Amino acid sequence: MCRHLAYLGPAHTLHDLLIAPEHGLYRQSWAPRRQQHGTVNADGFGVGWYAPGDPVPARYRRDRPIWGDPNLLDLARVVRSGAVLAAVRSGTEGMGFAEAAAAPFASDKWLFSHNGAVPGWPGSLHGLAAALPPEYLVGLEAPTDSALLWAHTRFRLASGVPLPVALAETAAAVDAPGARLNLLATDGTTIAATVRGDTLSWRRASPAGVLVVSEPTDDEPGWHHVPDNSLLVATSDAVTVEQLAVEVA
Ligand code: GLN
Repeated sequence: MCRHLAYLGPAHTLHDLLIAPEHGLYRQSWAPRRQQHGTVNADGFGVGWYAPGDPVPARYRRDRPIWGDPNLLDLARVVRSGAVLAAVRSGTEGMGFAEAAAAPFASDKWLFSHNGAVPGWPGSLHGLAAALPPEYLVGLEAPTDSALLWAHTRFRLASGVPLPVALAETAAAVDAPGARLNLLATDGTTIAATVRGDTLSWRRASPAGVLVVSEPTDDEPGWHHVPDNSLLVATSDAVTVEQLAVEVA
């Protein structure tokens, strides 16, 4: 089970958002506190961020532990952004280790991450895959459940549904008992997240904005823990949480 994070609000450096917090994503890669599956998140990492005036995010991913990459520290010191999505990966058995398997997955203005695993993959996702036009499967970025869930989400986005609906429909399209489906995505102005099978928390950021994380990045007050089977939608100044539908919309 990986750990992920999304932030919207006033611009901060990647260092302030990911590395400086006492229990931030950087530390969560070797010492997560709420992780229920797996122990460390050392199978790659990625950061996506938006720059002013450009709707398409930049992305930096590596196939190694986040603590083993000196380039990130240098980048994080100077890159500032008001919209960030990042993840550290603990690869599910059998799903390979490659940069292309590390979230965030990206396309156009979107960034996407998946915490979890689909038991019985790949056979258990056959129905979901069968619903996709072939170009989504041929262009699959990595041989992982996450990449296929992202392909399905992209397909729903391309048909014009809003980001939260696309995530909810992807979660609902997974017909695999025990599937863990914490999905997280952003278009740079809205964050959407599903909670199914693992933890998710959010908090108002200081001095403004919102942080959505697999687990709190410090022990300060103000964290809200999102219940299982929820759909969270956040902008920099508003957060809603509703129940996640089980059926395909
Ligand atoms: N199953 C996904 C992968 O292997 C996500 C892993 C995770 O959440 N630990 O990449």
